[in-house]
Amino acid sequence: MNVECPLCSRPGRLERHHPTGRIHGRPIHPKFTFDICGPCNREQNTLWRMAGIDAEIPTAEALMRRLTTWLTVWDRALDLHQHAALVEVLAELSDRIAEAA
Ligand SMILES: [Zn+2]
Repeated sequence: MNVECPLCSRPGRLERHHPTGRIHGRPIHPKFTFDICGPCNREQNTLWRMAGIDAEIPTAEALMRRLTTWLTVWDRALDLHQHAALVEVLAELSDRIAEAA
């Protein structure tokens, strides 16, 4: 089934994007997801490389930067599930950063 990508409007199959990424294939924050097309999904990896936040095991600070990068790209409202998941992600990363300080 072809669906329009919410980012680029191209019709196609959507993939589940995890804005904070994965470690060894497992999503770091599995509840925080967005359905976008494959090219848009891979574009995020390019942005991470350009921003220097593409480490295989990212720090909490790098995950915060991935998050802000994504929220700049996703220039629209979050749905209720995305909003609730974002609050959890922010709380978890804030705790990790505070513990490391
Ligand atoms: Zn797209």
